[in-house]
Amino acid sequence: MTGVCRVPNCHLPAFSRFSRHCRRHKSSLRRQGDPLQTSVTKGELTPYRLRVEARIAKNADSPLWEHLEGRWREIVGQARGDASKATGNRYQRNAAREVLNIGADAGGRAVMVTALAMFVLLSERPSRFASDAGFRLQLARRVRALSSRHSGSRYDHRTGREQRVYREMTPKAGAILGQTLATTFGAAGLRLAALDEQDREDARTAQENIRTAIKELK
Ligand SMILES: [Zn+2]
Repeated sequence: MTGVCRVPNCHLPAFSRFSRHCRRHKSSLRRQGDPLQTSVTKGELTPYRLRVEARIAKNADSPLWEHLEGRWREIVGQARGDASKATGNRYQRNAAREVLNIGADAGGRAVMVTALAMFVLLSERPSRFASDAGFRLQLARRVRALSSRHSGSRYDHRTGREQRVYREMTPKAGAILGQTLATTFGAAGLRLAALDEQDREDARTAQENIRTAIKELK
């Protein structure tokens, strides 16, 4: 017997007797990391990315950026080994292939900026993410989108044409990639978010001082 989707207030029948979610929520769980997670778009992340870039420019001499890019290079190097291993964990191997695709197309700087921006977004709008798993998969997806290697072409026998197909990341590979990125960039990202918050606080205080001084004019 088929049950009911376990997402609160959904009430739709489960996708199959083996599924705990309806079709839509099952798809969101697979593609977005959580039944209730929606995709973070490139445009949505842009303002956060610009702020990260501004913060990097303000701290151009900090060794942090080179350290973080170095960590990413190590991850790509490690992935090269993992991807070619005939034995070992299949999920790790898939995740390694994702890393190699990203590494082939995107510079370490772009990966770092995107990952840091995701943490600034998380810090400022925590409710944007349904769960940690939802956040980590969005983190993985935004970084993965820096590479164009996820679409390939397939020959369509009926039309006789090449057709572009988009390759989805497997949920397990996405979770592994998200976890790797979070471990690498999380601490720095949250620190950048705290600095942004401090700047806003300073600006509010300055405004308040001006208002008070205006009131106290005699
Ligand atoms: Zn549902």
